[in-house]
Amino acid sequence: MSDNQDAGVSIVPIGGLGEFGLNMMVYQYGDDIIVVDAGLMFPEADMPGVDLVFPDITYLRENRDKIKGIIITHAHEDHVGGLAFFLRQINVPIYGTELTLALAKGRLREYGALEIAQLNVIHPDDTVQLGCFHLEFIYVAHSIPDTVAVAIHTPVGIIVHASDFKFDQTPVDNRLTEVHKLAALGEKGVLLLISDSTNADRPGFTPSERSIYPDLNGVFQQTTGGLFLATFSSSLHRVQQFIDLAVEHHRLIAVSGRSMINNIRTASELGYLDVPHNILIDAREANRFAPHEVVVLSTGSQGEPRSGMALIAKDDHAFLHIEPGDTVLISARIIPGNELSVRHMINHLLRRGAHVLHERNANIHVSGHGAREDLKLMMNLVRPKFFIPAHGEYSNLVQHAELAEDVGISSDNITVAEDGDLISLTPDFCGVRGKVPAGRVLVDGKIDMGVENIVVHDRQQLAQDGMVIPIVVLNNNSGDVTAGPDMVSRGFVHMDESEDLMNEAKEIVIHAINHLSPGSKSETETVQEEIRVVLRRFFKKKTDRRPMVLPVVMRV
Ligand SMILES: [Zn+2]
Ligand SMILES: [Zn+2]
Repeated sequence: MSDNQDAGVSIVPIGGLGEFGLNMMVYQYGDDIIVVDAGLMFPEADMPGVDLVFPDITYLRENRDKIKGIIITHAHEDHVGGLAFFLRQINVPIYGTELTLALAKGRLREYGALEIAQLNVIHPDDTVQLGCFHLEFIYVAHSIPDTVAVAIHTPVGIIVHASDFKFDQTPVDNRLTEVHKLAALGEKGVLLLISDSTNADRPGFTPSERSIYPDLNGVFQQTTGGLFLATFSSSLHRVQQFIDLAVEHHRLIAVSGRSMINNIRTASELGYLDVPHNILIDAREANRFAPHEVVVLSTGSQGEPRSGMALIAKDDHAFLHIEPGDTVLISARIIPGNELSVRHMINHLLRRGAHVLHERNANIHVSGHGAREDLKLMMNLVRPKFFIPAHGEYSNLVQHAELAEDVGISSDNITVAEDGDLISLTPDFCGVRGKVPAGRVLVDGKIDMGVENIVVHDRQQLAQDGMVIPIVVLNNNSGDVTAGPDMVSRGFVHMDESEDLMNEAKEIVIHAINHLSPGSKSETETVQEEIRVVLRRFFKKKTDRRPMVLPVVMRV
C-alpha cells in the first residue's frame, strides 16, 4: 500500500469476510492505521491437533509503526479472542467499553499478555482521536451487553462500522440501540457502511431477547425434576433471564464451566448482571439439594467434547448427573460446523432419559444478530453512499449486498470483498484495488510460537520432536481395548533404546481409555483427544519434548 493520501482511505479486512469468526478490519490513511477487533475462530473438524485459529497479521506487522490503536467492539470471541495473540506481536493501545475490556482481561491474563496491555475504557458517548481518525461510538443491542458500533470520521468522509447488532425494542437490560446517533450520522452524510451479514438470509426482524421468556418460563413451570441449561457464557442477557426464572421458581443456580463462572462474576461485579444474593451455588454442592431445588447452568451448548454439558451428557462429569425425566435446554444457536458434536451430545442425553429442548424443537433461543428488516433499517438510518457487507460466509455477504440494492444503494456502490482485499475509499470511489497477505494461523495451545501456518508448524514440530502414532483397536460394543496399543514413532526416540518409555506410554493409553465412560468410549474423536492429551503430557514430562501425537482408533 502506498502512503499516497490521494488514494484515500484504505480498508483491509484481515478476517471475517468469507467466514464466521476472525473479525479484524484495518483502516488506513497516510501514515495512520487503526484496527477494529481481533477475533479468533474455533478449529474445524478437519484441523486435527489445532486448538485455536487466528487471522494472519503479517500485513499489520509490516506496518506496525503506523498503528495508533485497536478498538474492540464487544467481548465475543470472534471479536476479541485473538487479542492476546495480536498484542504479543503488536502492542498498541486498546479501546473498548467497560464490560468488553473486563471480560477481555481474563483471556489476556491466561495468555500472559495482561501486563503489557494498554487498556483504555470508553463510554459510548466518548470520542477518541487516533491519528487522523476521529471516533464516535454507538451503543447497539446484541447478545452480550456493552457492544458498540464505531463511526470513523476520516479525511474523506464518515465510515460506520456497524459491528454485531440487532434492533431490540425490549432488551433485557433496557439499553436500546442508539438509533438517534445512527440517524444523525445519516443526516450528516455517511460515505461507507460496513455491516453484519450473519442473518442476511433470515426474513423479518429478529425477535426481542425477551420474546423467549414465556416459553422459558413454561419449561421451568413444567419441570418437576432436574433442570439443566446450556448456553454461551457470553450470552449474558440469556443468563440474566435464567437467573430471573430461577428466582421466580425458587431454584438455586449451580454454575458449571470456568468461563461461565468467570463471566457471571465479572458482569455482576460491574452491574451488568443482576444476581440476587445467595442464589448461586458451587456445582459441587448441587447434590446436596433435591433436583427441583436447583437448576444447573453450564457451558457446552455446542457439544464441545470437554465442556460441562458434554461431560454431563456422557455421564463423565465429576459431580453433575442426569436422571431419567430431567430436562435439558440447549439455549443457543447451533453454529454451522458444530452440528455433529451437538447431535452426539443430544443422543447421549436422550439415552440417559432426559427431555432435550433446543432451538429446532422449542422457542428457547433468539439470535443476537439482526435479520433482513433490521439490516435494511440500519442502511436506511445511516443512508451510506457505499456499502460493504461483513461478518459472514460469502453467501451471507452476497445476500446482504442484494438487500442493499433493495433499499436503493446502487450496485456500483456495493463491494462484496474478502479477507486480504485492499479496498480503496475516496469520496467518489469504493472498490478493491489489490491484495495484502491474509489467511489463518493455526495454533495448538501456545500462542507465542509465531508460526505462520500449520504446515510450517507441523514441519518444525516433526523436525524437532518427531512424531508418535499410537494405534489401538476397540470393541465396537463395549469400547474396551481389544488389541494394541501399538506405538509407531518417527524422529522422536530410537524405538529399540526406549522400550521402557514406550511400554509405559502403552499402559497410560490403556489406563486413559479404561477410565472413559461408555459414552465417551463410543466416540472416536473423544478417545483420540484423550490419548493425545495424556501422551503429550507424558512425553513432555519424561523427555521434555513434544512429539506430534496422531492417534489411530479402530473398531471391530
Ligand atoms: Zn457478537
Ligand atoms: Zn461476531
